Amino acid sequence: MACRLALDRRGFLLAAGAAAAEPALAQIDVGEASRLRSLVPAGELETASAQEYQQMLAQARQQRALAPDDYPQLQRLRAIAQRLIPVAPRWNDRARQWKWEVNLIGSKQINAFCMPGGKIAFFTGLLDQLSLTEDETAVVMGHEMAHALREHARSRIAKTRGTGMGLSVLSQLLGLGQVGDLAANVGTQLLALKFSREDEVEADLVGLELAARGGFDPRASVSLWEKMGRASGGGDGPAFLSTHPTGPDRIARLRDNVPKVQGLYEQARGAR
Ligand SMILES: [Zn+2]
Repeated sequence: MACRLALDRRGFLLAAGAAAAEPALAQIDVGEASRLRSLVPAGELETASAQEYQQMLAQARQQRALAPDDYPQLQRLRAIAQRLIPVAPRWNDRARQWKWEVNLIGSKQINAFCMPGGKIAFFTGLLDQLSLTEDETAVVMGHEMAHALREHARSRIAKTRGTGMGLSVLSQLLGLGQVGDLAANVGTQLLALKFSREDEVEADLVGLELAARGGFDPRASVSLWEKMGRASGGGDGPAFLSTHPTGPDRIARLRDNVPKVQGLYEQARGAR
């Protein structure tokens, strides 16, 4: 598709400043995003997400669990995001308009997410308990951003609510008259949303490329999931790990795909 190529090229120019040097077939092909997602309007979902996110931040603030702007761990997260955000529109043009936010919640939970519209949260448990390096943190962030960019929540909601449904029907079902209610219902649903296996594979691959284009070592994806695997060993694993099962398949797939983005990583590093 011509327009897609043009967008890709523009995205690349923004990211690395040398489109001509891009290795052929460097981008991992994950195909078109699910067509079902068009049944749920993106703008409405992004508004609902933003409200849900603000509610979550307010709650965290009340519990004195929201990291202040000058908190070093939060500053490191935001610095990573600053390198990933410019390459994000390659996967979703809407991302150019997103008001990206990155926050850190003080919690033992091993968790992180990026809601539709670019609202990112990390929990200190993920960073601390797994002792994540900068590159590993970037791979997690890339993975979560990929869920938002590929609009997995949107297609997941469309699928669970049935086909042929516009927002008005969605609103009726949820008993919505206004956006505030949408946030209360869809938003809560968003935070609890479980992605499919296919969504997870896609988020792994897109996240890998995002991280590489941002100048983060894609090999960190392997060590990251090895750490996740060790953390989930036995008993009730943390919530994030139950929705993100790690195993030899996941790690092998990442390892197989690292060479495809290695050139992009080296190029991004060279440009920094
Ligand atoms: Zn995921």
